[in-house]
This record gives sequence, structure tokens and C-alpha cells, in this order.
Amino acid sequence: MAGKKSKALFARSKKILVGGVNSPVRAFNAVGGDPVFFRSGKGSRVTDVDGRTFVDYCGSWGPLILGHAHPEVLAAAKAAMQNGSSFGAPTQVECELGEAVRDALPSMQRVRFTSSGTEAVMSAMRVARAYTGRDLVLKFVGGYHGHVDSLLVAAGSGATTLGRPDSAGVPAAWAKTTLLLPYNDIEAAKKLFKTRGREIAAVIVEPVAANMGVVAPEEGFLETLRALTKKSKSLLIFDEVITGFRLFYGGAQVAMKITPDLTCLGKIIGGGMPVGAYGGRRGIMELVAPMGPVYQAGTLSGNPVAMAAGLATLKTLKKTMPYARMAEETAILTQELRSMARFRSLPVRVNHIASMLTVFFTDAEVRDFASAKTSDTKAYARFHSGLLEGGVYFPPAQFEAAMLSAAHTARDLEFTLDAAAKAFKRL
Ligand SMILES: *Cc1c(COP(=O)(O)O)cnc(C)c1O
Repeated sequence: MAGKKSKALFARSKKILVGGVNSPVRAFNAVGGDPVFFRSGKGSRVTDVDGRTFVDYCGSWGPLILGHAHPEVLAAAKAAMQNGSSFGAPTQVECELGEAVRDALPSMQRVRFTSSGTEAVMSAMRVARAYTGRDLVLKFVGGYHGHVDSLLVAAGSGATTLGRPDSAGVPAAWAKTTLLLPYNDIEAAKKLFKTRGREIAAVIVEPVAANMGVVAPEEGFLETLRALTKKSKSLLIFDEVITGFRLFYGGAQVAMKITPDLTCLGKIIGGGMPVGAYGGRRGIMELVAPMGPVYQAGTLSGNPVAMAAGLATLKTLKKTMPYARMAEETAILTQELRSMARFRSLPVRVNHIASMLTVFFTDAEVRDFASAKTSDTKAYARFHSGLLEGGVYFPPAQFEAAMLSAAHTARDLEFTLDAAAKAFKRL
């Protein structure tokens, strides 16, 4: 549970920041109790304002694949800061990070950096609409693509329900530009494209869903989306804001050998600083100003401090290639959590891929948002608070991915499993 100082700070924050936070999930509404306020982080560990230390599985929701305050990232950001934090003019490091991104994701022939993943997605959709001259975008239920107005639409059972806004303040007319289908539903996608393919500007998809909890694409799902979009001359947008440089060095698209038309990145490529990027085939991206008629800009886009932190992160990842080890550790964690749950006869499903996992409290196989929602979120909340008591910080919401970093050690895992055993016992 949150300590005394966290509680006091939350009370104070609530009097100035909306809900005490700057992004809703941080408020712990999904798990109950007050949020923990952090003071510092180093490697796999974070320390709160009360002086308690936790093994961190949130990693700032994805960016910190190298762990907190990694020396190389720190040094690069510091050096960049000392040279002047922003110019609003081109710098060399933007070019270098762009090249590093394209080297790892060759489909991104031209890249534009933004300051967040949301901006990257918003802009990629604008480009797709300009390129195709169409308005509709297909997304998948439970997919998260930032807080873009027209994409804050998730509900609507049945096959191709036209969207109902999930957030207040989204004009119905904009929500109607979004089509929805269940993730992994190949037949539904085929059916939709048969009747409406020619109206669809783009399909936007997380190649591994990580915002309904971790859900991997089933065999043929992404391939089908590629084939359908190609046939109807729609664009395929991979939202790799989480998967980019998380699954492998590069994107899911490289490992899965599927080439999207446009790709969105964020999180890891900023090394903990605010960054997003979108890119794709030259012929599409050159629609963007100043080359073309699609306007998109940003005062702090390509900010040199953020670019330096991102570049240092990618260089360190490339040099150390921690992916196999992180995947192995995640698999071990998954297996142990499963067997602990089995031992206590708890209905638990653990989905995992690479360095991400989600613990669902359900009997059902989780392969889309509907099955994810069968999870007993109250049980997750109790599990979460049990872990917190034991010194382990899991994402404070069910439909999220717990993430390992390269800094997690065998000792961290043992410590985590100890805490998990106690948390399961208390369920
Ligand atoms: C986090 C996330 C975004 C939004 O990125 P922000 O930097 O939070 O705006 C978009 N898409 C996916 C898949 C994400 O996980």
C-alpha cells in the first residue's frame, strides 16, 4: 500500500492536478488504494517517497527497457542538455536516430519524429486518409492507440458495429470514422473488407496487443490484414509504440516478416524522454509537409535531449542484445506464476511474449478483448496490492502488460516470486 508520504502527496496533488495525476491510470482507480509516489529509480528498482524500494514491472509503461537511470542514456541526455536543450532547428542527432530506426525497421524509409505516441498515430492516420482519399479507419476492440479523438472508441459487441465514443467529448461524427472488429477475428475482417474495403483508408493494429493485457496475434491474423488492405488499396498501419524494440531489435514487423505501409513508434525510442515517430514508404510519407500537403508539426519534435536518450538506448540495445535473456526470464516467471496459481486452484491465465506478461484471473483462453474481460479484475486488484506489500510494483491495472527490463536479475525474479506466492495465498 501507499506509504504515509505518498498518501499526503496524493491529497495535496488532488488539489491542483486533475485527480492528482497527469495520466489517468496512475491514480490506481483500477486497483484501489492511493498511488505510490516515486522518488527515484535505478536499474530494475524504484524507490518511493517513503523510502520503500520495489522491483519495477511497469518500466514507465514500456520505455525503460534498459531499466531506470541507465548510465549510457543518462550520459547522452546530460551531454545533449549541456549543449542547449532545444533549437527549433535541425540537429545531427535527429538524423542519427532516424537512421538507426530505419536500419532496424526498413519499411520506415522516411521518418517524422513527434513528442508522443498519440501524435504519431494521429499523424499517421492523417497521412493514410490523404493518401487514399478515404475517411474510415478500422481498429480492433481493446486496441489502444493513444488518446486520438476518433480512436477513443472501443465498445460495441457484434461484428462491425459502428463506433460509439468511449470518451465524452468525441463528436459522434468522428467516432463514425472508426470501424471496430474483435482482435484475431480473421473471418470478420474478411467479411468487412468484402463489403466496405474500398471505403477504408487504413487498418491500425498493434501487431502484438499489449493494451488489453498481452494478447499475441494468431496465425494468419496479421497476414490476412496485409492481404486485405493490399487488395482494397487501404494502408496497413502497425502501431509499434510498445512492440518497437521491445520484442526484438526492430519491430514485430521484422520478426513476423509482414511489411506495413506505415509504422508508429514511441516509448523505447525516446529512452524515457517524450518521443514518438511515424514513418513508412517514401511515396506515402512525402505527402507530409514540407514535401506535401499534409500538415504536421511540433515545437519540440526531434528535441535533441530526447533524441540523444533514444539513440543511446538503441545503441545499448544493439550492443548488448538482451532480448533472449529477457524472454527467458519472462517465460520462467510465467511458468512459476502458473504453477503457483494451479497449486492454489486459482483460475489464472498468464499470457506472455518476449519481455511482457499479463496475469488474468480467468479460466478462459485470452485471445481478444472479450475474453480478456472475463478476468476477475477484483482478484487482480488484490494480487496487485499483495505484490506491492511484498515490494513488487506491477502495472496498477488489469489490462496492461507487465514488463521486464534488461536490468532485472535472477535475484529480482526470486524476490518477485516470493512476493507472488504470498499474494496468491492471500487471494
Ligand atoms: C502508449 C501507446 C500509445 C500512445 O503513446 P503516448 O506516448 O502515451 O501518447 C499508442 N499506441 C500504443 C500501442 C501504446 O501502447
